[in-house]
Amino acid sequence: MSEEYIDVKELFGCDVFNDAVMHERLPKKVYQELKETIKEGKELSLEIADVVAHEMKEWAIEKGATHYSHWFQPLTGVTAEKHDAFISAPMEDGRVLMSFSGKELIKGEPDASSFPSGGLRATFEARGYTAWDPTSPAFVRHDPAGGILCIPTAFCSYTGEALDQKTPLLRSMEAINKQALRLLRLFGNTTAKRVTPSVGAEQEYFLVDKQKWLQRKDLIYTGRTLFGAMPPKGQEMDDHYFGTIRQRVSAYMKEVNEECWRLGITAKTQHNEVAPAQHELAPIYAPVNIAQDHNQLMMRILKKVASRHGMRCLLHEKPFAGVNGSGKHNNWSLTSDDGINLLDPGKRPHENKLFLLVLACILKAVDEHADLLRASAADVGNDQRLGGNEAPPVIISVFLGEQLEDIFNQLINDGTATHSIKGELLETGVKTLPDFRKDATDRNRTSPFAFTGNKFEFRMVGSQDSISTCNVVLNTITAEAFKEACDRLEKAEDFDKEVMDIIREYATEHKRIIFSGNGYSKEWQEEAVRLGLPNLPTMVDAIPAFVSDKAVRMFEEFGVFSKVELESRAEIMYEIYAKAINIEARTMIDMATKQIIPAVIKYTTVLAESINQVRAAGDFDISVQEKLLSKASSKLTEVYRALSVLKKSTQEIQNKPEGPERARFCLDNVIPVMNELRRPVDELEMIVDKEMWPMPSYGDLIFEL
Ligand code: ADP
Ligand code: MG
Repeated sequence: MSEEYIDVKELFGCDVFNDAVMHERLPKKVYQELKETIKEGKELSLEIADVVAHEMKEWAIEKGATHYSHWFQPLTGVTAEKHDAFISAPMEDGRVLMSFSGKELIKGEPDASSFPSGGLRATFEARGYTAWDPTSPAFVRHDPAGGILCIPTAFCSYTGEALDQKTPLLRSMEAINKQALRLLRLFGNTTAKRVTPSVGAEQEYFLVDKQKWLQRKDLIYTGRTLFGAMPPKGQEMDDHYFGTIRQRVSAYMKEVNEECWRLGITAKTQHNEVAPAQHELAPIYAPVNIAQDHNQLMMRILKKVASRHGMRCLLHEKPFAGVNGSGKHNNWSLTSDDGINLLDPGKRPHENKLFLLVLACILKAVDEHADLLRASAADVGNDQRLGGNEAPPVIISVFLGEQLEDIFNQLINDGTATHSIKGELLETGVKTLPDFRKDATDRNRTSPFAFTGNKFEFRMVGSQDSISTCNVVLNTITAEAFKEACDRLEKAEDFDKEVMDIIREYATEHKRIIFSGNGYSKEWQEEAVRLGLPNLPTMVDAIPAFVSDKAVRMFEEFGVFSKVELESRAEIMYEIYAKAINIEARTMIDMATKQIIPAVIKYTTVLAESINQVRAAGDFDISVQEKLLSKASSKLTEVYRALSVLKKSTQEIQNKPEGPERARFCLDNVIPVMNELRRPVDELEMIVDKEMWPMPSYGDLIFEL
């Protein structure tokens, strides 16, 4: 295979209107003013916006763009855009000019009525605005539709309520910035101007062959398989994880990387994941609003490039029952613009008071708002994944690792911490391999919220979900804990003593949230209940956390969400849940009625005919044929019975009042019947002649790519 040379340095960010481009193209004064806006959140004047818009347009046209689009992230889970060509009204001589004004850059007005608003905006008040977010750079995307200048925006209603994922995230960044700066000042820092949450979101996905995908109505309509017997081989051999990447997949990854790099997305690490056909792509961490934009773009690129390679990329959390699902590990830390990572323990963590205080605050925050953090990872697909024997359990706990847990124990038991456990030398027993110092703690893959060296890794987020909500929650609950600590510290007579008192107090009061054992075990679930930790198994159970008094109070205090916004979000979540289950149920009904039952009838008919023929031919043993016929027929009866029940309960969905009641009905009355239908169908798949089975099997989908 010939290798085409790629100059990554040249390629990287070539389609982004980034700082380097702005520096080069904008007049110095304009550039400086824009930088200030970005850095300090100052307002941008229309004059400046006009100049920026003009240069942006010129640059985009050079890149082949014909249109611009306000690119935003409504509450549908995907991104939205409307394209406008740069052309203006024709001149007298019939020619057109290409124009793009500051006003068009700053503000857009899509019809907001068709996006979910949870009742925030009745359809007769359809006004919604998109507003340019200058902290996230514009970029040109190349599509069959042509080159499009995409301008990252926030999406709000006429009355200023957030209708998107971006606005609350930006608000939460402000909240944590303010409180973290306060904390840094108290510790004597005078140089930091901004503290920003940094996030690296590792993205898991599956690849399947497109021709096979096309034969699975369930994958097409719902993103996951609703039927399917386990193949003879699953993931038990663990031979896929980090295994050699298949040629077809490598070619795909190469193109995904190139597309990411063009857009300035730092696609960095790629490997095979645990399940066959499952892979992962991780970028280098970035400020959370950028990380979020990049994650959305990355998901889109993963899908788009798969199509080009005759494949489909499945981002659903659980495309295949019984096979590991996909998540998005949200690595989160807090970094100041003068280079401090507040989550860096340093060499002697037991003496690092700022770090210990930050950690204690996070423990408190996570313990007090465990329900909210859990809810932040709630999405319909994730219900299939969380709590299974793979991804993190639904109970939130914090893994600190041996070293930090030991320090906290010293503080709790002895009042002071005198030492930090050190990582030992790892001896391989092979002379030619270097011995190196191990990390002070091992990993714990079963923890939903694990400290990993200088960041926390929140592993609960679903693979197709936006990372917005979990980061809004992490930022805000941490801001709240910082605020309480700062309030005390600003009043304290003896600062050092108060710091230690707070750390000890929080560690003691919230140590129940620390857990280092096996998060999958039954013992932990029982223990967690005993400790009073919330156990919210499904999305429907989790949603109320957004509208609890405690959550409303906090979000309002920090200006992240108003009560109305929270209520609307909860409403949207219930609505999405009921709709998704309704679609899944109807897809099952469709597949069972039009594909599976006819296939089984065909099989049993052929079998019955063959029994007659063999019988006519002589006195042969036909007991096996008869047994199979009888078994297939009785399973078919089970299928038919479950199908009738499912049809009835699906019809009832619409009769339930929208909101929690309808969602709860789907959870308690529809899903169990879906499972009832699936069971005999999967058993039949193991009986019926493969040639007659109307769709590719799990084996075909995940082992044959
Ligand atoms: P691991 O193998 O421990 O999961 P990696 O080094 O592969 O860790 O990082 C996983 C993700 O975490 C990557 O996206 C990486 O950029 C990100 N990451 C690393 N350090 C930080 C940090 N300080 N803050 C936030 N994210 C980080
Ligand atoms: Mg990781």
